[in-house]
Amino acid sequence: MTSAPSTNNKHIYLDYNATTPLDPRVLDAMMPYLRENFGNAASRSHSFGWAAEEAVKIARQQVADLLGASDKEIIFTSGATESDNLAIKGAVEMLAKKGKHIITCVTEHKAVLDSCKYLETNGLADVTWLEVGKNGLVTPEQVAEAIRDDTVLITIMMANNEIGSIHPIKEIGAIAHEKGIWFHTDATQGIAKLPFDVNDLNVDMASMSAHKIYGPKGVGALYVRRRKPRVRLSPQMHGGGHERGMRSGTLNVPGIVGLGAACKIAKDDFDKDQAHYKALRDRLEQKIRGALDHVELNGDDEQRLVTTFNISFAYVEGESLIMGIPEIAVSSGSACTSASLEPSYVLRALGVGDDLAHSSIRFSVGRFTTEAEVDAAADTVIKTVRKLRDMSPLYEMAQEGIDLSSVNWDAH
Ligand SMILES: *Cc1c(COP(=O)(O)O)cnc(C)c1O
Repeated sequence: MTSAPSTNNKHIYLDYNATTPLDPRVLDAMMPYLRENFGNAASRSHSFGWAAEEAVKIARQQVADLLGASDKEIIFTSGATESDNLAIKGAVEMLAKKGKHIITCVTEHKAVLDSCKYLETNGLADVTWLEVGKNGLVTPEQVAEAIRDDTVLITIMMANNEIGSIHPIKEIGAIAHEKGIWFHTDATQGIAKLPFDVNDLNVDMASMSAHKIYGPKGVGALYVRRRKPRVRLSPQMHGGGHERGMRSGTLNVPGIVGLGAACKIAKDDFDKDQAHYKALRDRLEQKIRGALDHVELNGDDEQRLVTTFNISFAYVEGESLIMGIPEIAVSSGSACTSASLEPSYVLRALGVGDDLAHSSIRFSVGRFTTEAEVDAAADTVIKTVRKLRDMSPLYEMAQEGIDLSSVNWDAH
């Protein structure tokens, strides 16, 4: 195999929840479809088309196998954002005569939040926005209590991208099924990191993306259940009637082949990947949390992705921290919205204060992370936090046992 794609001499990639590098095996599978096998999968009258169609068929089965689904239940899209849009808007439009109430939660990915907001703003849906606990999770009881006679859709993500918290989707799916309500989950962060089976988890629709599982960017899929219940979605993209009429547009054959290959590898290597993720995530987390005091874990300690930990460093200014570790690629708890630095809405929803949110970092390891990278990253983070705290009067006061909340800052 070619060298690990995450290693770039000086720079250390620990942002696998944002995107993953292409697995070299995925690239190998894609190459023929970027070169000689360029046919349109919808061309029925020549061998170029047939070769493309055959490749798509194999990929569809590979995706279905990873999800425990039938190949007829897989709709190819441009990624999880499109899958979320299609699932939510497509379901609400299809079920408009039945009702227009949907249930979601405040820490969903923007693709879900903004799809729901669009429907709400335009009077197409009434939305219940469930709050999360301090651990970032909704409970099945919250979902059950929010259900109304006109509820048509529940959409709750499998695992959160920022904090890694894993929602009880099997239980939520069971509640939805009992009431005859369709259940969608944005499974983008859960698939390939957690066991996944659409029947075991009571899921009617599931969004996924290739570039979060070592496939290429710009391709993904939506699982759409065919039986019990039979889910039909109003298309959001109209045209040639591809993908059983639910998503028109010439298929992205190399991308789809890459998604299929990524799914096959994820299934074959699942146990090996899990062991690797856990060993490296734990090593990094233990080094940092072991060396530094006043460090808080954001999200649930147990119900959490094996790749991820998100921590706040008290008494450190967020921007200085990120600037102090330029060779380490991680995500910060601040989102750049236009010109200002906004604390992450996910951390806010957990009740994390703005200062702590700004000084929080999400570390996410992956298939190509090495022990040497983890050790080097831990050293740099620890050194930088210590250096910043050495300059912080607040940290000094905390060390002396002064209760900072009792200090009257206005006094001169
Ligand atoms: C990355 C991500 C998305 C968006 O996926 P794209 O394929 O980049 O559109 C949606 N939901 C979650 C939870 C994600 O992590």
